[in-house]
Amino acid sequence: LESGPDKIDYVFKVVVIGDSAVGKTQLLSRFAKNEFCLDSKSTIGVEFQTRTVNIKSKVVKAQIWDTAGQERYRAVTSAYYRGALGAMLVYDVTKRQSFDHVARWVEELRAHADNSIVIALIGNKADLVDLRTVPTEDAVEFAENQGLYFFETSALSGENVDTAFHKLLEEIYSVIS
Ligand code: GDP
Repeated sequence: LESGPDKIDYVFKVVVIGDSAVGKTQLLSRFAKNEFCLDSKSTIGVEFQTRTVNIKSKVVKAQIWDTAGQERYRAVTSAYYRGALGAMLVYDVTKRQSFDHVARWVEELRAHADNSIVIALIGNKADLVDLRTVPTEDAVEFAENQGLYFFETSALSGENVDTAFHKLLEEIYSVIS
């Protein structure tokens, strides 16, 4: 690792999971580049982006992995989860089915990821107020039962995206330090 003012104290691997089209890729580019791309779909294959942030006066490089469409083919492999310290489990607040599948994604994490992985449940597309089908209370209850952090976000407006990632990274830091 580098030394001097740019030295990195930690690299945290975070995986983003959830059904197709819930906004995983957009959340990632909002956090990593502060961008929302209208046509961003890349080729199938695992990819990650990074952003370096300060967490409790440490320099933490968040290495955030995107399924890049593998979930469509139920092909998210254990290699994807290997070494992950955190997970963003995303559903779409306008698509009930994506929330109903969250329990399955939690099982997938418990099966393939490290036991101490920190999980944040993310209800994305909160900007689509009139199209909402998943009440906040349903997600709060699920998150409490499962011991997950919970945020509603909009990758489009940016609302709560940094807050959610920062909370996840802070909790990872407190788990490992
Ligand atoms: P992924 O398959 O989970 O990676 O989903 P994408 O990031 O490709 O997003 C799927 C679609 O939802 C795209 O058309 C995005 O532009 C749109 N989308 C993603 N996030 C948001 C959001 O926060 N608000 C709204 N209104 N649309 C979003």
